[in-house]
Amino acid sequence: MALIIHRCTCGHTPTRHPADGACRDSLRACRCTTYKPVEQPELLPTWTMFGVPIPEITPPGERSDHRATCACAACQALYAELAGGTS
Ligand SMILES: [Zn+2]
Ligand SMILES: [Zn+2]
Ligand SMILES: [Zn+2]
Repeated sequence: MALIIHRCTCGHTPTRHPADGACRDSLRACRCTTYKPVEQPELLPTWTMFGVPIPEITPPGERSDHRATCACAACQALYAELAGGTS
């Protein structure tokens, strides 16, 4: 399931920021120590193990991959926009 997330101000996704807060982007040796979400949420695409994109989006507030998604107004709005189709 694709997730709507707020990137941290360091540019990394919240999945890089576990419960203790410190960013764990090993590739770029990020020095960010606290998850500071930017205001604007974005869609984080997910793929199956075969590299196929997963079009379904996890509704805001629901859990996916052992992590609760954000349910703020901005996320709700983005979800409505993305899941609402082209009508
Ligand atoms: Zn980072
Ligand atoms: Zn960060
Ligand atoms: Zn949110």
